[in-house]
Amino acid sequence: MTKWFTFLSTQYSAKFISVGIILVSLVGCSQSIHPVPIAEERVESPGITAHDVRQTAPSKMEFLPISRCCVIGRSVQGRDIYLYLFVHTESFEDSMNLKPNVEKVLILGGTHGNEPTGATTAHRLVAELQKNPHLYVNRYVAVVPEVNPDGLAANSRVNANGVDLNRNLPAANWRLTKRDNAFGGLSPNSEPETQALTKLIERFKPDRILTLHSIAEGRHGNNYDGPAEQLARRLCEKNGYPLLKTMGYPTPGSLGTWAGIERQIPIVTLEFARCRSTERCWTENAQALIEFIQNTDVETCRSEGEKTCSQPSEDTRNKFGR
Ligand SMILES: [Zn+2]
Repeated sequence: MTKWFTFLSTQYSAKFISVGIILVSLVGCSQSIHPVPIAEERVESPGITAHDVRQTAPSKMEFLPISRCCVIGRSVQGRDIYLYLFVHTESFEDSMNLKPNVEKVLILGGTHGNEPTGATTAHRLVAELQKNPHLYVNRYVAVVPEVNPDGLAANSRVNANGVDLNRNLPAANWRLTKRDNAFGGLSPNSEPETQALTKLIERFKPDRILTLHSIAEGRHGNNYDGPAEQLARRLCEKNGYPLLKTMGYPTPGSLGTWAGIERQIPIVTLEFARCRSTERCWTENAQALIEFIQNTDVETCRSEGEKTCSQPSEDTRNKFGR
């Protein structure tokens, strides 16, 4: 069987020392924006203990909800980049093997370090998923709350090399630009944070991606790339934010271009209003996040093809914002 998680250990095999299955209380690990790992890999069993499993009738407990916390890479300054994976599976070992016909959802936060509500809201989502396993029945949900941990630590949009990680993807339209706060790096995929993200997407093969950002009040909304217009509209219904087909300025080397337009992975960039608190962002978007995880219209959208799904036009290729 293909063990997609093995790529995690190949890069860090020396430090991937198993500590066995550690059952921890659920809420604790996700309250902090910078969780301190028990080990390189932690294993959590949300809301379920061995005692609970024994007490649960087999007919009601066919699959055990499991969350894993792994390190998928390290930042320029050596900070760990965490991935939380939620899955209902027959065993912990089996959670290493992704089944091909199960939906895979990827949610990202903290790509821009000066947009902390993306990260804090993603952490809040992790906590909610740990407490409520029914939210991710029949799907894999992967959450990376802090794509840019160095930027979050410094309250900086860019990473420690001064690179905008949402301009560093190896998209066809990546280009060398001047060193400002949208600098895309000296070459595409040059940054360790970007490499961790692209490797994750290539191995995990998500069916859809949601990335959490923030922008000036009044410009917030649900922006999309690839075949994600209907999905973005569903989020609009839940959070009341506008649908944003474009934002206003080019974003060469963005995740939306690389994953959405070039790989046709439906991707929504959810832009919170920057001045709003984490609590307000969560309150406004909790239902939208659940909708994104549970949405079943994506296949319909794909099967309907170009008529109803957004296809890249010259206008959207030169996409704005984020
Ligand atoms: Zn952003």
